[in-house]
Amino acid sequence: MQDAQRRGLLIILSSPSGAGKSTLARRLMEWDPSLSFSVSATTRAPRPGEEEGREYYFRDRAAFEKMIAEGEMLEHAEVFGNLYGSPRGPVEQAIRAGRDVLFDVDWQGGQQIRNSALGKHTLSIFILPPSIRELERRLRTRAQDSDEVIAGRMQKSRDEISHWPEYDYVLVNEDLDATEARLRTIVEAERLRLSQQPGLVEIVRNLNTEFEENQ
Ligand code: ADP
Repeated sequence: MQDAQRRGLLIILSSPSGAGKSTLARRLMEWDPSLSFSVSATTRAPRPGEEEGREYYFRDRAAFEKMIAEGEMLEHAEVFGNLYGSPRGPVEQAIRAGRDVLFDVDWQGGQQIRNSALGKHTLSIFILPPSIRELERRLRTRAQDSDEVIAGRMQKSRDEISHWPEYDYVLVNEDLDATEARLRTIVEAERLRLSQQPGLVEIVRNLNTEFEENQ
């Protein structure tokens, strides 16, 4: 969307760990490169292959806390002893330029973004796994975490899932391609809302001018 007057949407994607949120976020970004992904900051250590500024901004606790104190975090939360948060600056810049911003955050992040000063136009989508067995299977096949970490994630997933009614849309991620298609449909429909199309005023004005000229 090129309309300069349009302010970008804040698109919030949440799910219990392993339900497919990161995969779907990546696919949505590939589908629409004009989307801006909100890279989170974290105090957790980088995993092999992770790059500063791509997966996360890696900060020590003191630097992270300074950002919170200076109001530079749109939202933040502590999960498993590490701080995670969304830096405000890049989000402000993107939505002012009319670009939609995608957030991969948990329910705490979702609530804080909706309640923030930038949270006037949000679209929130919750991803559910088809079953708890499948959720655990996906965490195991992702092969990223130890048994202990997986057990922790599974325990936390019940709490995360309990927040599904706070979201505008809920998708059960059974078949990945089908879920991705539905996600695109949601984003496309949201962009067609009256409030998201300030350019309509001009179009309708031109239609009226034509009516008058044809009289
Ligand atoms: P999250 O970001 O929610 O923690 P991921 O996107 O990392 O989850 O997905 C967890 C694992 O499940 C990954 O290995 C991913 O490839 C796989 N996955 C995601 N969606 C599906 C699906 N619909 N069917 C099967 N596997 C899936």
